[in-house]
Amino acid sequence: MTEQPCDTAAEQPTIHLMDDVLASRVAAGEVVERPASVIKELIENSIDANAHSVRVETARGGIALIKVDDNGTGMSRADLALCMKNHATSKITKFEDLYDRRSMGFRGEALPSIASVAHMSISTRRAGDVEGSCVVSHGGEEEEMRVAGCSPGTHIEVRELFYNTPARRRFLKSIDTESAHNEHQVRLHALAFPGMRFAFVNEGGIVFDVAATPDLRHRIAAFFGQEIAAKLLRLRPTLNNGVRVTGYILPLNEARRNRRLQYIFLNGRPIEDKNILRAVRDGFGGFPTGLHPGFFLYLDMEPALVDVNVHPAKREVRFRRLGDVISAVMEAVSGTLADHARGEETGSSGVQTESPVSSAPEPPAPPVSAPGERGSTASAKTPTDATQGDEPPPRGMLPPLRLVIEPQQQELEIPPPQKDAPTADKQSTNLPFRFWGMLPDRFAVFENAEGLVVLSVAAARERIVFEQLVAQNKKPVMTQQLLTPVFVELDARDAAVVKDLLPLFTRAGFRVALFGAKTLRVEGVPVFLKLDEVDLFVSDMIRAFSVGEVRLKRSRDPFELFAVRLAISYVKRENFAPWLADPSLLLRELLRCDIPYCTPRGKPTMIPLPLSELKRRFQAL
Ligand code: ADP
Ligand code: MG
Repeated sequence: MTEQPCDTAAEQPTIHLMDDVLASRVAAGEVVERPASVIKELIENSIDANAHSVRVETARGGIALIKVDDNGTGMSRADLALCMKNHATSKITKFEDLYDRRSMGFRGEALPSIASVAHMSISTRRAGDVEGSCVVSHGGEEEEMRVAGCSPGTHIEVRELFYNTPARRRFLKSIDTESAHNEHQVRLHALAFPGMRFAFVNEGGIVFDVAATPDLRHRIAAFFGQEIAAKLLRLRPTLNNGVRVTGYILPLNEARRNRRLQYIFLNGRPIEDKNILRAVRDGFGGFPTGLHPGFFLYLDMEPALVDVNVHPAKREVRFRRLGDVISAVMEAVSGTLADHARGEETGSSGVQTESPVSSAPEPPAPPVSAPGERGSTASAKTPTDATQGDEPPPRGMLPPLRLVIEPQQQELEIPPPQKDAPTADKQSTNLPFRFWGMLPDRFAVFENAEGLVVLSVAAARERIVFEQLVAQNKKPVMTQQLLTPVFVELDARDAAVVKDLLPLFTRAGFRVALFGAKTLRVEGVPVFLKLDEVDLFVSDMIRAFSVGEVRLKRSRDPFELFAVRLAISYVKRENFAPWLADPSLLLRELLRCDIPYCTPRGKPTMIPLPLSELKRRFQAL
């Protein structure tokens, strides 16, 4: 083989380098999804700047205006000149810093991203400076810096979000919906840092203004009411292999029908994590199906133990030692409930769980920030409780019992089917089927009036998951961001149909985009998809349409075709243990489906063996 130098001058390249503003606008697609994400980034910066007080003001759901004022350190002129530039950050200087960092931000892309899709002004002043300075930018094009008379701290206004990216703007929901997201976002930060004051003003009216407090329960009460706050059980502070867990849970008899009282903070950052959710439920010793525990969990650990650089908005994190995190959470929850149950038994009203943290045998905390640490009044590492005034928790509370464990559904974000009062008693299911036993290969045998029925657990799950996916397809499926995008090569036929498929991929929880004419770039996939089958899954899917095996145009709802594939893929990966432990529950769910007797691909989910048939066969012998 001879290698010849090739002639690169012959053709114009199709690849070009993006200029900074364009690059920011592309990055903004990841960082700035909606007004609430702008608020999140700006508040995080205020927290990083050691502010004690943050005030957020919005108009028209944050689309017309988002204004964030803080009383933090402010910026020098030199820093102000840089902060809207790409990858300008004061927070990390070398790659290793990523693994040892305590601040909220570090990518240095929030301000340039926001600036690129809005009109933005930043006025800032350090406490010692005689005057402040101000920079105004329009879609990332900066005006000259000016002198500004402003109070010490930083004052940022973002106007007309997405004015220059109408496609993104169309993605926004109603003003009310965006406002609700905004309020939730500020509330999240306020719960993460009770030691800071937070005010939220919408359309000129104060939505809340919560004063700094060293007492987390006090902050929770400010948002959720005294009644709920009084029922909270203070978590027995737990330290497990460097993972520290504090916070509050609601006892079992305060379980909710929704997930609104579920908050997880990791090193001061609100996160979403299915594993932790599950660990809480497990800490209860299982949890009634259809109900959700209420909790405010504060995890603190060495920054090196967690990768927050997984998701651009940092909502999802990756734990380096997930097992330690899970066992710490389980231990904290189950220990607290055990203490509480003991208190109930001895009539001491769970005093142990409510004792102030200072007198509890508290393990040494890792040197990281804890809720309540920031702000003028906060000196304690953990919120200290004014427990004396607390009402004793209501009597007759259930000790943690083994109850019907809600199976894997949380992983899918499928709302659990609404059940009647949840029960641990399998006899009370009123099912005309009696469970006899399990055969190998996950076949469950039931008896009914006609004879026997054999149920395939996997097939049943396929049907149930499919119908749940279709039922909830208006709500986006949870997406996991891929660390490195997967590129799927398309042939000419595939490329012809793929455009029509893009919205379906999105609805199914994918983040995909065409990358040139014949490559699909996959940046995110539904959480339950096996990562090593992304390429296969996506190309399979497209192939099914391009070869006409599945016809998009004729399909009543093309999304159903996706749901079929997704259900199959999910069930392949599912842990069946909870279903095997309670096949009656599975059968009940199956019978609630529109078409219970076959999978979406038409394979049977159960096979009846009526007595009449058995008799016929025996006589035939
Ligand atoms: P990051 O937070 O990832 O560093 P940002 O784009 O959010 O990136 O901010 C860039 C820089 O601007 C920060 O590192 C910080 O130095 C400065 N900055 C931003 N907001 C504030 C603020 N509210 N107070 C003080 N400095 C700020
Ligand atoms: Mg930031």
